[in-house]
Amino acid sequence: MGYNLDILPLTDWIDTGGFPLIISGPCSAETEEQVMKTAQKLSVIPQVKIFRSGIWKPRTRPGGFEGVGEKGLKWLKSVREETGLLTTVEVANPHHIELALKHKVDILWIGARTVVNPFSVHELASALEGTDIPVMIKNPVNPDIDLWIGALERFNKAGIKKLIAIHRGFYFFEKTPFRNAPMWEIPIELKRIFPDLPVICDPSHICGRRETLREVSQKALDLEMNGLMLESHINPEVALTDKEQQVTPDDLNEILSTLVIRKREGSMEFETKLEELRTEIDKLDAELLNIIARRMRVVDEIGEYKSNNNITILQLERWNNLVINRLRTGIKLGLNKQFLQHILEDVHSESIRRQTEIFTRKNGGKSDN
Ligand code: PEP
Ligand code: MN
Repeated sequence: MGYNLDILPLTDWIDTGGFPLIISGPCSAETEEQVMKTAQKLSVIPQVKIFRSGIWKPRTRPGGFEGVGEKGLKWLKSVREETGLLTTVEVANPHHIELALKHKVDILWIGARTVVNPFSVHELASALEGTDIPVMIKNPVNPDIDLWIGALERFNKAGIKKLIAIHRGFYFFEKTPFRNAPMWEIPIELKRIFPDLPVICDPSHICGRRETLREVSQKALDLEMNGLMLESHINPEVALTDKEQQVTPDDLNEILSTLVIRKREGSMEFETKLEELRTEIDKLDAELLNIIARRMRVVDEIGEYKSNNNITILQLERWNNLVINRLRTGIKLGLNKQFLQHILEDVHSESIRRQTEIFTRKNGGKSDN
């Protein structure tokens, strides 16, 4: 099934002043004072256009702070009136939508735990039929690009054309330096499929701590993301949710001012040089593929030979020596050890797969591994 989204370009409905779109505000609205003070400070940072705040908080376990509910929407209304910032809130059921629309919230967002459920997404999209409120859709917690796309499609089918995808990282079973693994290849693939879809990055939920926000924000911009959502709190130390990852508005300002906004295209001279280098890469890739194919043909030949002589496929000692030797050569050539290990492992498992196939074919289904 082909992909299709009918999207309004971001610049048609929001003026970002030529800067990436910046959304900031607390993880959760806690008190009127906290919301207003944070918003006032944010409103004097020129890049910040949208004020975010959770009113209903999805918590993994019951008993934590679950948000202030409807009264927070009144505070958001004051934010809009007093600072001119647009406001956005997470909605997770049709009742949230009804209340958010009633209080004239400008933009809705769908959280990572809601996007995993097509029933919920369908219900939310139906509740928005007939409106043209912008909707931001976070990636689902699990790394499934189709679920993310499915949610975008469901809102689009309901008539929402002002859509933004938010990359907030993914649950990953192994320990990583991040709270949620960025898996940059997924938002990049989303952008490849939908070049017109604005994609913004949420470094706060990727990092889970303040220290790496700048680095991840810069990386997102270098990957041509259209903006950033960064959590801020007037006093992060006492925040009721996501305390470690929130920054003060002053710190946010500092981060934003050090971000380098690179151009997408360069001068004629730059483009010509780039084209030359890309042609070189194309040529090298073709050679690389040719060499891999040639290597696999030799692997097949060895497979035939082993099978004819009743020798096992896996010969650990040979493999261990080969890895040591290739790592040494590769490292001398300036290649990264981990990268080399990955390649060698992949080549090895493909070689074993091919030889197993040969054994199975020759021995009539009995492989000797
Ligand atoms: C949030 O933005 O505070 C939030 C709950 O995010 P996510 O849905 O990405 O976990
Ligand atoms: Mn949060």
